[in-house]
Amino acid sequence: MLHVLNPATEEVVATVPAATREDVDTAVARAAAAQQGWAAAAPADRARLLRRFAAQVDEHREELARLEVREAGHVLGNARWEAGNVRDLLDYAAGGVERLTGRQIPVAGGLDVTLHEPLGVIGVIAPWNFPMPIAAWGTAPALAAGNAVLLKPAETTPLTALRLAELALEAGLPEGLFQVLPGEGPVAGDALVAHPGVAKIVFTGSTRVGKQIMARCADRVKRVTLELGGKSPNIVFADADVEAAALATPMSFLDNCGQDCCARTRILVQRSVYERYMEVLAPALASVVVGDPADEKTQMGPLISRAQLERVRAYVPADAAALRGTAPEGPGFWFPPTVLTGTAADAPAAVEEVFGPVAVVLPFDDEADAVRLANATDYGLSGSIWTRDVGRALRVGAAVRAGNLSVNSHSSVRYTTPFGGYKQSGLGRELGPDALTAFTETKNVFLSTEA
Ligand code: NAD
Repeated sequence: MLHVLNPATEEVVATVPAATREDVDTAVARAAAAQQGWAAAAPADRARLLRRFAAQVDEHREELARLEVREAGHVLGNARWEAGNVRDLLDYAAGGVERLTGRQIPVAGGLDVTLHEPLGVIGVIAPWNFPMPIAAWGTAPALAAGNAVLLKPAETTPLTALRLAELALEAGLPEGLFQVLPGEGPVAGDALVAHPGVAKIVFTGSTRVGKQIMARCADRVKRVTLELGGKSPNIVFADADVEAAALATPMSFLDNCGQDCCARTRILVQRSVYERYMEVLAPALASVVVGDPADEKTQMGPLISRAQLERVRAYVPADAAALRGTAPEGPGFWFPPTVLTGTAADAPAAVEEVFGPVAVVLPFDDEADAVRLANATDYGLSGSIWTRDVGRALRVGAAVRAGNLSVNSHSSVRYTTPFGGYKQSGLGRELGPDALTAFTETKNVFLSTEA
């Protein structure tokens, strides 16, 4: 049994039976049968059904959002955006069904064409930090490309995923085509990874588990996409609008209580403006509204679990030099917004993913120093560059080894643009115009005109 807790109150929200290895076997067989008919259906019909699924999600947006507030402690505004994001991902993928075109390549003696064939059954293994959007990043394009999907949500957050599966059926998607298997990672997750009937694994989660899954997939040369951890830099140059950069800093790492793979937790500030930056940052950090996630005014809610709270605490000694915000007392997994100021550049809090409302700030001297510090982690997911010098933005952007950069802003994930990590932040890309292709095999066919 999975016990789903409300992280803001520690109350049990639901208990959900955990899928066994046998449940996974049964689900794979049903998915494989459903996929045959789905792949053979007219593309326009597949697109229409995905749009109906999107419309169902839209109709139940508020219900899904409220469920996410309860199971994951997301603040209400974010949870509404997340449910809307699922709708948008489905609509966008539906638009790709009839545009999944191959190529005609000039050859001698005949006609050569390439086809994009669906892979079959896809296993999507999702984390708890953004249960709905991340489930949909894999599911929507995989379905659109003609595959069936088995989604394994994280142990702590299965409820919105289960509701999405019901909405898919209500929208008219065939039985078995999209199934949700709540369960333990090493049981239900591993069964998907090991199953010969699952053609590809789309994994989002920790780098540690991602490495294990990649090794397990190697046994069968199973296709795999990995979206893993991050320790993203936020580089503030002296020529930037330093006040704007400081004011934008808190929510660049506090969104979702810092449980965001793109959180800008390595703040690098040019030494000549360091003091001014900190002067503006301190009150901005202190004014972040932390509390009941169901209250529309709240900006930051609790951490997901006690285990996560203990993990975050271990990175922040009680006497550490830091700027701190506030957090509620009492039940719930609360930790205040924190910016550590006296940390060595290679200390664990400065190079490891804390996955909580904690960032470090480090001064740098010049552009080369900033790039060196930005790249001095095993990760390479996101990053921000604050400067008014376009040439510098382009130079530093080229030198930072990360998949998703933003200049004078902290945006990084849009369903219309590709997303993924360099180095140990991942393998492969999701989202954007090529998302469907990642769920296909390319087949080349030569037709002789000389026979
Ligand atoms: P996690 O690795 O503990 O778990 C992720 C998922 O994998 C869960 O569903 C879990 O049940 C499953 N799992 C665990 N062990 C497994 C195994 N042996 N076989 C198969 N499945 C297994 O990660 P988490 O703590 O849920 O999520 C937080 C992590 O996710 C952070 O590191 C974060 O950076 C990362 N993340 C990355 C992205 C990205 O796009 N790069 C996005 C969000 C989160």
